[in-house]
Order: sequence, then C-alpha cells, then structure tokens
Amino acid sequence: MGHTICEKRECTGCSVCVSSCPKKAIKIDLDECGFYRPKIEDNLCVNCNVCNRVCPVNNPPEVYGPTKAFAFQNTEEVRFNSTSGGFFHAIACRIIDDGGVVCGAAFEDDMVLRHIIVAKKEELAPLQRSKYVESSLDGIYTRIRDYLRNGRKVLFAGVGCQAAALRNYIGEDKNLIIIDLVCYGVPSSGLFRDWITYIEKKYAKVVDVRFRDKSYGYYTPNIKVLFENGKYIENCRDSNIYAKLFFRNLSVRESCFSCHFKTVDRSSDITLGDLWQTDGLETIKDDDKGTTCLFSHTEKGKELCQELGAVEIDKEMLLAKDAQKMVSCISTAAGTGKFWELYKERGFEVIINTYEKDNFLRKVKYLIKSLLNRTGLSRWMYRKLKMKKIRDNR
Ligand SMILES: Cc1cc2nc3c(=O)[nH]c(=O)nc-3n(C[C@H](O)[C@H](O)[C@H](O)COP(=O)(O)OP(=O)(O)OC[C@H]3O[C@@H](n4cnc5c(N)ncnc54)[C@H](O)[C@@H]3O)c2cc1C
Ligand code: SF4
Ligand code: SF4
Ligand code: SF4
Repeated sequence: MGHTICEKRECTGCSVCVSSCPKKAIKIDLDECGFYRPKIEDNLCVNCNVCNRVCPVNNPPEVYGPTKAFAFQNTEEVRFNSTSGGFFHAIACRIIDDGGVVCGAAFEDDMVLRHIIVAKKEELAPLQRSKYVESSLDGIYTRIRDYLRNGRKVLFAGVGCQAAALRNYIGEDKNLIIIDLVCYGVPSSGLFRDWITYIEKKYAKVVDVRFRDKSYGYYTPNIKVLFENGKYIENCRDSNIYAKLFFRNLSVRESCFSCHFKTVDRSSDITLGDLWQTDGLETIKDDDKGTTCLFSHTEKGKELCQELGAVEIDKEMLLAKDAQKMVSCISTAAGTGKFWELYKERGFEVIINTYEKDNFLRKVKYLIKSLLNRTGLSRWMYRKLKMKKIRDNR
C-alpha cells in the first residue's frame, strides 16, 4: 500500500502537504465530487513523513484562548463591499501601509477561487467578501515563506483549516499575521464550476458572485451573479440553487462535518465572524450594514485590533451568546449519499432539475421575494425576525 497522510474523510484539501514534500511527490486535484484532494506518486515518495508532520489534521498546531473580543464597523462604502463590518479591509490596508503583502481568496478570470497575494490597496477588492466555495492554496505556502524570508510582513486570511496549515508550515514569525474565519463549511469547487458553466451557457460570462450581497441590507439574504455585459441575476432559481444545496449541507466537504478547527481557542492571531447581535453595545449602532466580531488570540492580534479602533466588548458575554458558531459542526444531511451519486453519474443539470424544480409555484415564490426586496418589506421583516430572536434568547 502507498503512503497515506491523513484519513480521506478528514482531509480538508489545504494542500500544505504538497508544498512541504521535498520530493515533489504530491499533486492536488479535484476528486470525483469536485473537492481538492492530494495524491501521492508512490514511485517518487521516500517515506520521510514530512507531509504527515505538517498536515494540520494529523498534527494540529498549538492553540490559544481568546484574549479579548471586539466589534468593528468600517466606513459604509467598505462595508457594502464586505461580508460583515469590513475588518479584513482595515487590517489589510494597515499591513500594506507597513510595506507588507496580503493573502486572501479571490475569484480569478476563470472564476476559480484561489488564494492570491497583493501588495497594493487598489488590488484588495477581489479579496473582500466571503465566497462559499473551497479556495485553492496550491503553491501559496512557499510564496508566503519567501516573503517572510525577505523581511516583508504578511497578512493571511482563510478558513480555520487553512490557517492551521499555514501555522504548521511557518511556525511563529513576528511578521506573519494569521486571520481565520468563523466557518460554516465549504462546498465543492467542481460543483461551483459546473454551476458557473450552466449559468454562462444560459446568460453571459460570469465575472463575480456575491454570496452575501447587501443591496437590500445586511440581514436580507441576497445572492447576486454579475455578468461581463454589466447585467446580473438575483432572486431566481438559477442564482439561488448553489447556495440552497450548500445550506442544506448536501454539497459540503466531508471534513466539515467533524472539523478539528472549530474551537474557541485558535492557532490564528485573530478570528473574524458576523456580529448579529449589537444590542447592549453603546458605541456600535446596528444600521443593517454589517458588523465584524473579532476574537484576538495573541498579543500581536490584540494590539492590531486596538490600533485599528475596534471596540472592545465583553468576551464572556459574546462567547455565551455566540460561541456556538465557533465550535459546533454542521450535521450530515439525510440524502447526501444519493445527492453525490446523482452528481457523479448524471451531472449538475440533473441536480438542479431534481433539487429546485422549475415550476409555476417556484416562479411565483421568487416573484414575491423580489417584490418584497424592492419595496423594502423584506428588510423590515428580517429586522422583526432578528428582534424576536434576540428577545427569545434573553
Ligand atoms: C466559507 C465561509 C463560511 C463562513 N461561515 C461563517 C459563519 O457560519 N458564521 C460567521 O459568523 N461567519 C462566517 N464566515 C465569516 C464571515 O462571512 C466574514 O468573512 C467575516 O465576518 C469577516 O468579514 P469582514 O467584513 O471583516 O471581511 P470580508 O471582506 O468579508 O473578508 C473576508 C475574508 O475571507 C477570505 N475568504 C473569503 N472566502 C474565502 C474562502 N472560501 N476560503 C478562505 N478564505 C476566504 C477573504 O480572502 C477575505 O480575506 C464564513 C466565511 C467563509 C469564507
Ligand atoms: S512521505 Fe515524504 S516523500 Fe513521501 S509524499 Fe510525504 S513528504 Fe513526500
Ligand atoms: S495536509 Fe491538508 S491536503 Fe494534505 S492530507 Fe492533510 S489535510 Fe489533506
Ligand atoms: S468547517 Fe473546518 S474543515 Fe471545513 S472549511 Fe471550515 S475550517 Fe475547514
């Protein structure tokens, strides 16, 4: 039997094993369900175990408890182009001002999500916003190491398994700042590409997907697919099917169901997430434009949060209210096996026709949602729902 790194169901696709293999014996590619998966060429492997030691599943890095909790709101313009309060943009600007570089996930021209490195503030826009798909980190670890060796500061932002992989690869370095995200899980890259291909065949070339578009407010969910010709689609079967499969937990990577990195203590410097409940915070006003919640885990992380003007909030209160999302894994959906069998055997178009039928009722549902959004009624309804949730939690 050939060399194995970690159990297949636990592998996160972080690809740090690929970067660390001294014999270049590991390649990463999409498996039959469209997830990034490392493959070892046995004839090149010398069983040195370097890949096993760097793999964050086999060998989780040391974690630190949150030292402090903060809330952050950037300017309205930055927040509109961010998922929550735009903290990522603020810290990225600081690192660039200090002569450093920023590494985050961006859609490239082929609409594949990859971690890229930028050194100018004008290049930050594609890195902003959460993208609900696996990001490719192939080759990124060695590039980060090279920047650090040249004395440059590096800010890295990614999901927990990627942050842990980078920490294992680099270790502690005063010039490295690692941000990880509160993470629901990630869907298959192959499925995402198939969805984009399906949409492009029907409409036009896709240039961006905004999974948490704020056109109707922070609390009103809206997915917007933007085309090269300046047009876009939203609130319809074609724009919503991909996220529907994600939030039904059907298209999520297997490792996300028993994630090792969803803990309150983290190996990162700062953890970012959405702050849904701003009631009781005097200096943060809930204006339906988004607030980032932050947990600092290191001295360096805490100092950066403070210097950037994040407002300190009661850590224990935030953990009591909101820690569930830091630690609880999503559960496997009934019918996942059938879903993947169908996808592998019959492809994406059969999936969409099975899971979101194109019938009269569906069209009426989207029409009503669209009207509610455009008249501002959905914004009002979602705020009411949010207030009810807060009252129920008291
Ligand atoms: C897949 C995913 C699931 C998430 N689930 C939750 C959740 O359940 N609860 C919660 O509170 N918050 C969740 N978040 C985090 C949240 O959506 C925001 O990213 C966070 O609030 C920071 O927002 P911001 O406005 O400060 O920065 P933003 O401008 O939104 O910056 C987001 C940063 O995330 C990076 N990023 C975007 N997509 C990916 C990706 N697919 N893989 C790796 N890095 C990526 C970008 O490079 C950027 O640096 C999730 C994020 C992702 C990517
Ligand atoms: S055991 Fe060593 S040579 Fe083999 S794949 Fe892992 S790192 Fe590469
Ligand atoms: S290092 Fe990452 S990609 Fe490689 S086996 Fe471990 S989890 Fe999978
Ligand atoms: S849930 Fe865990 S394993 Fe899945 S992408 Fe997020 S951090 Fe990685």
